[in-house]
Amino acid sequence: MSRAVLEVRDLVVEFRSRAARARGSTRAVAEVSLSVAEGTTFGLVGESGSGKSTLARAALGLIRPTGGGSTVNGTDVASARGSTLRRLRREAAMVFQNPVAALNPRRTAAASIAEPLRLQGLPRHEVERRVAVLLDQVGLTGGHGERMPHELSGGQCQRVGIGRALATRPALLVLDEPTSALDVSVQAQILNLLLDLKHEHGLTYLLISHDLDVIRHMSDTVGVMYRGRLVEQGPADSVLAAPSHPYTRNLLDAIPGQGRERLLGPGALATDPVDTVGAGTPATGCGFRPRCPVARATPAGSCSTTIPLLRPLNGHDVACHLAEEAGSATKRSSA
Ligand code: SF4
Repeated sequence: MSRAVLEVRDLVVEFRSRAARARGSTRAVAEVSLSVAEGTTFGLVGESGSGKSTLARAALGLIRPTGGGSTVNGTDVASARGSTLRRLRREAAMVFQNPVAALNPRRTAAASIAEPLRLQGLPRHEVERRVAVLLDQVGLTGGHGERMPHELSGGQCQRVGIGRALATRPALLVLDEPTSALDVSVQAQILNLLLDLKHEHGLTYLLISHDLDVIRHMSDTVGVMYRGRLVEQGPADSVLAAPSHPYTRNLLDAIPGQGRERLLGPGALATDPVDTVGAGTPATGCGFRPRCPVARATPAGSCSTTIPLLRPLNGHDVACHLAEEAGSATKRSSA
């Protein structure tokens, strides 16, 4: 078993906005634990607002967590200061969703990639040598390096962003929706570039995406987030072949060719309220309950009183009181 590059333990992030002050705080991440093994990709999937990016930023120390913590290569992130914090910043880097906005519009591509190298105090000739190598690694030329961001395509800007992230030779890259702002024709090129770089340099990725196709293409391990909680996680093959949480089934249902009838059982199309985006999180019990077809079909149980915790099932972990019932519905419908 490979050692963990990123460990997240019982991480909690709460926000106090002025509007929320009267009601208390908003819990964006709720007691999430995960581990990303060296040289692997952990794919974090869930709809917009499920807490994926907040979790990643808190894990890297870019947001102060309310509870729990994280380590990168064994170093506690929250308590890192001075030279330890600078080392952490070199060991873990982020690639952002909007590649154009992530670059300084007044700097050339080469200058953007060079910035983290200059901050390390490297001599100018070494910075120039490393920038040339990095441009080549991400499939760009010296000519691209002389251009400003507005003179590059979205895909080329994302290649610059990846080169900049790789500049400090990090062990861990957090990829926050790295292709969602790109044309479909360019997305596969960037994903394949990331796969090549991972294999060539032994990189470890935490990949955030709302797109299960991207997660499936890239990930060794998958975590499914819903309203701040991990509701299912484990080896990608297991989670995607035998999804056991109704929410994961719903996400898979959105992929062409995987109909809801197969996933949720006969009658699901007529009665399933799962598309009620914005349904409120209940004060008690499972947060997915207002959208859950399984709970509607099986009103008894703990769904309304107890938050389900992750437990082993079907070769991975699932947080659902009635996952066995949901699974048997799938088997019945696909028989
Ligand atoms: Fe649905 Fe209950 Fe499972 Fe929550 S615990 S997903 S409400 S069946």
